[in-house]
Amino acid sequence: MRVRFWGTRGSIATPGPTTVRFGGNTLCVELITNDGQRLIFDCGTGARPLGLDLAHSVPRPLRATILLSHTHWDHIQGFPFFGPLFVPGNEFTICAPDGVGPSLANVLAGQMEYTYFPVKIDQLPAKISFRALTEGQHDIHGIGVKTQYLNHPALCLGYRVETDGVSIVYMTDHEPYSETLWRADALPGSLGSILHAGDRRHAEFMRGADLVIHDAQYIPQETSSKRNWGHSTYEYAVELAAAAGVRHLALIHHDPLRDDGAVAEIERLSTALASRRSSPLHVFCAYEGCDVMVHPLRQTSSPDPVQQAIGERPERRLSVLIVDDDPNIHLLAEEALAKDYEVLSAEDGEECLDMVQESRPDMVVLDLNMPHLGGMGVLKELRSDPSLSDLPVLVLTVSGNESSTRAAFEAGATDFLTKPFTIPQLNARVTTCFARVLNT
Ligand SMILES: [Zn+2]
Ligand SMILES: [Zn+2]
Repeated sequence: MRVRFWGTRGSIATPGPTTVRFGGNTLCVELITNDGQRLIFDCGTGARPLGLDLAHSVPRPLRATILLSHTHWDHIQGFPFFGPLFVPGNEFTICAPDGVGPSLANVLAGQMEYTYFPVKIDQLPAKISFRALTEGQHDIHGIGVKTQYLNHPALCLGYRVETDGVSIVYMTDHEPYSETLWRADALPGSLGSILHAGDRRHAEFMRGADLVIHDAQYIPQETSSKRNWGHSTYEYAVELAAAAGVRHLALIHHDPLRDDGAVAEIERLSTALASRRSSPLHVFCAYEGCDVMVHPLRQTSSPDPVQQAIGERPERRLSVLIVDDDPNIHLLAEEALAKDYEVLSAEDGEECLDMVQESRPDMVVLDLNMPHLGGMGVLKELRSDPSLSDLPVLVLTVSGNESSTRAAFEAGATDFLTKPFTIPQLNARVTTCFARVLNT
């Protein structure tokens, strides 16, 4: 399998004399299977040079699948400039997270309105079909593709492609679920030592992969000022990849403020960290033009039969009970959720327990720190009732509280969100939480 990087920059394109080595185009990564099938991860401005290359290197008609992680600008801005879309006979399937709100076709059409671009999406000569994906296992034109939601202030999917006896994982944009990666009572280095279930799930997703392409926008010193922006440090990517037994790790989504020297320094620090962990992991910062052949380490058995794991979305509106003594959280939740869900409110633990019995919400968003009956007490009460054992409970806590995070998971919390959080973050987290529950 061959992987080519056409854009590796995050957030915004940064051409110029200080970025010639790693490149200034935003994300676009091409994967070509041994039998010539083509997957394209994201359509940042790197899609333009990819399109120019395909125009003379691949016979027509061209068929490809575009896998969008999400639709933030740095992942779609190259789409209108992707030349093969203007060639009749070419065929593209565009996949992206199945989110609430406008459809994928409408989102991509929005940036091609006449106000912004002279050609509308439905005037493109190529045949385009859309496919919305949830978390699970999918068959995309015969290729096994597994998806998993990432932690980002928008619905965002990571992809794991298994074909030609190798596995490639593409995971950007993603922020660690917990500020503390390792459990206090365990040595770092194994998946079981990862504190937060979300980070453990993230590491599991890349387990044993031959190549992981991962967000590494930040350095550790930046994490406190960039919290909730939805990105990883190189340290997080290297620690998880080493613990998960990954062979090669390509770091991407380079910060637009980092010049070539600064990105090279990230590569040096990452390599040093992998060797401190005594890991054979090979780490590099991907650059524009980087061309990688990925061969199987040894002959592996064929992958499991692909299963479609899409659940039916129920007809009725799902309800979310917000439990917090802080009125600002209720205002924020109303803003974040009322468009898509029925929002119920309780101001303390006792009221929450009454409302769960009366209104049977589909999810509880529960503050841990409340006077009288706190979130932990409520969680234990809920889990002691067998009819509520599957009720998703998203726990809200403040940063730096590792012991309460661990205790809440042990008491049956489904997921965690650290205050302060933003409106799109809360919406994305509630939606991913529902998608998981509905798919199992
Ligand atoms: Zn991005
Ligand atoms: Zn993003």
